[in-house]
Amino acid sequence: MSLSDRDSKHLWHPLTQHKLAGPAFPITRASGIYLWDEAGNSYIDAISSWYISMYGHCNPMITSAVAEQMLRMDQIVFSGFTHEPAIAMSEKLMALLPENQQKVFLSDNGSTSIEVAVKMALQYHFNRAEKRDLLMAFENGFHGDTFGAMSVSGLDVYNGPFSDFSLEVKRITPPNGSNNEQVLEDLKKYLATGRVAAFVFEPLVQGAAAMQLNDAAGLSSMIAACHAAGTLCIADEVMTGFGKTGTHFASEQLSELPDIICLSKALTAGLLPMGLTTCTQAVYDAFYSDQLADGFFHGHTYSANPLACAAAIAAMDLLVSEEIQQNIQKIIDSHREFDAEIKIHDAVASTRQCGVIYAIDLKKDIPRYGKERDAILQFFMDRGVYLRPLGNTIYIVPPFVIQQEELQKIYEVLREALVAFGA
Ligand SMILES: *Cc1c(COP(=O)(O)O)cnc(C)c1O
Repeated sequence: MSLSDRDSKHLWHPLTQHKLAGPAFPITRASGIYLWDEAGNSYIDAISSWYISMYGHCNPMITSAVAEQMLRMDQIVFSGFTHEPAIAMSEKLMALLPENQQKVFLSDNGSTSIEVAVKMALQYHFNRAEKRDLLMAFENGFHGDTFGAMSVSGLDVYNGPFSDFSLEVKRITPPNGSNNEQVLEDLKKYLATGRVAAFVFEPLVQGAAAMQLNDAAGLSSMIAACHAAGTLCIADEVMTGFGKTGTHFASEQLSELPDIICLSKALTAGLLPMGLTTCTQAVYDAFYSDQLADGFFHGHTYSANPLACAAAIAAMDLLVSEEIQQNIQKIIDSHREFDAEIKIHDAVASTRQCGVIYAIDLKKDIPRYGKERDAILQFFMDRGVYLRPLGNTIYIVPPFVIQQEELQKIYEVLREALVAFGA
């Protein structure tokens, strides 16, 4: 039996309508920027496996750090115990994050990092004896698939069946530079109710919304308005974190800083699942009291997994290395050059770039899921490149370690696709 046949017997895949989807495609090896199939064909991972493997798959710097840690200590209870990997990880992270971030709460993935952030914000007001029961979030945001994260997400394709079971969330149009004033007015109307506990947003880039960009100045003034109204701001940097926007974190490009930041994905560089939520001293202080019940009673069994912490430390060491920083700049410059050529192409409606993130919208209207979209994905796979179109948007988030020649190969395949799938 083939791997695909064995897979279909028991496995239920994420984000998949199994009756309509073809069999899952087996991958047998991943190394550097490449994935390999059973027949030995290689594919450039041009989206870094959902923007996680930024230093390449199975990067020896990271695998060896994890292997070493694995022989010394595996999971232990993190309620009451502590350990060097978690401490060292928090120190490294704090040195990189915007200076207002002080405390780190660990969990398991991006969704739980949001879940923690939302609960933290709600309890922050509760502990201060303020009744605030409303959240605000961007239209078309994506924050994960657990209930709190799903509630603040605005992509209805996923959340229809659960919409009656959600937290109350008001949707705000993301600022784009020309609508900033209108958006700020809308936000202020909700703030004026005095009910808004928190504003959740993906700073600069909304990933799942097909890499839609938002305006740093507009977002900064929204955060400032929230702060004036006592509303906490939660930056979901699960996608944008760790170098992809050209700075270590997208929040660095804002003039007004968020109170809470959520991280996962590239945090452990594709080795192990981990998420974390950081906050300011002021947020932490609202939980610090003689009352037991003022504490934050949220915890995941695998909190601060020592192997995941070891991976995160190695990944952050790589991120700040001169080699990676130079490569990030080279990718940014290459994208710019490619963009100058491609944005005037007949088949292209629009393009956008933020750091190493680059997206092309085709003029052709293509549904988010279905045969047409699958045909484009197959077109790329047939040419040795893994790219996952989101409807008519094709985006690249290449690993930072990609070489110029390999990047040019991705561009070449994109040029071919514009001809094959043009208007
Ligand atoms: C992927 C993602 C999440 C959810 O992370 P998971 O680890 O898949 O639960 C949340 N927010 C953003 C912006 C993401 O890109």
